[in-house]
Amino acid sequence: MYYKLAEDSGTGVFPVTFTEYLPEQSPDPWWKSAVRDFRRVNPDEIPSIYKDGYLFEVPFVDTSVYMPWLLSRFKQLGGTIHQKELFSLEETSADLVVNCSGLGARFLANDLEVYPVRGQGVRVKAKNSGGCFLDQHSDLSLCYVFPRTNDMILGGTAQEHHYQFDPDPATTEEILRKVKIMDPSLEIEKVIDTVVGLRPARFEVRLEVDKNTPLPVIHNYGHGGAGFTLSWGCAEDVVNLAKSLKKVKSQ
Ligand SMILES: Cc1cc2nc3c(=O)[nH]c(=O)nc-3n(C[C@H](O)[C@H](O)[C@H](O)COP(=O)(O)OP(=O)(O)OC[C@H]3O[C@@H](n4cnc5c(N)ncnc54)[C@H](O)[C@@H]3O)c2cc1C
Repeated sequence: MYYKLAEDSGTGVFPVTFTEYLPEQSPDPWWKSAVRDFRRVNPDEIPSIYKDGYLFEVPFVDTSVYMPWLLSRFKQLGGTIHQKELFSLEETSADLVVNCSGLGARFLANDLEVYPVRGQGVRVKAKNSGGCFLDQHSDLSLCYVFPRTNDMILGGTAQEHHYQFDPDPATTEEILRKVKIMDPSLEIEKVIDTVVGLRPARFEVRLEVDKNTPLPVIHNYGHGGAGFTLSWGCAEDVVNLAKSLKKVKSQ
């Protein structure tokens, strides 16, 4: 789906050359066939701290453009938005509830298996060689450089069970130090701000009909650090479950 969205410049999805560096020689990843133009990084393309790496083309989701685009598409198709804090899933008069409350499912679905994985990043104005860079295996990990339409996101952290929304200045300094080692071509012109988000992690995504609620509820939460990646596939599964519920009701 994202490859298709990348064909339309208004969506905020665009193709990027993505480089993942590795501290050791490693076999091809299982997802190799899902990306385009996969190849090994040449020895002269690797910073000296790494021993291996791969390079491939993938669609990149610039969420600062994609989320407003998604919202306008939802409204164009007749969707309406009502914002309200819910204290129970039964509080609504809807025919069907799709529970996408992320970390909120700890409370709304009484599911203590969902927990936060805190991510801190730094938003900057910068120039690099043009691509995305990631290291999720060496001592520098987690380290990434993601150029977007109007800024660049440098990261990062993956701190399990941390709820702290305030940015930690020492972590910001550490991120700025690490990204320069990973991507020596990086020229930071200006730090814009520091961003913090909590990924709603779970041992597996919960996507199922809840059989214990008076109202029909389909849960769809716990996507960890892959919520955008999984979103279209999960949405399709939710629609199929909703159709099967409708069928049962009309029988
Ligand atoms: C640092 C960071 C890096 C990420 N990197 C990636 C990545 O590389 N690839 C990728 O695919 N994804 C990435 N993500 C996305 C992430 O993986 C999540 O999976 C995704 O944001 C989860 O989306 P969600 O809609 O399920 O939950 P959320 O975005 O948490 O949305 C849940 C919503 O439910 C609302 N809610 C909760 N409780 C209640 C209540 N009681 N009443 C009313 N509303 C309620 C909340 O206000 C919120 O709006 C990243 C996220 C972070 C923070």
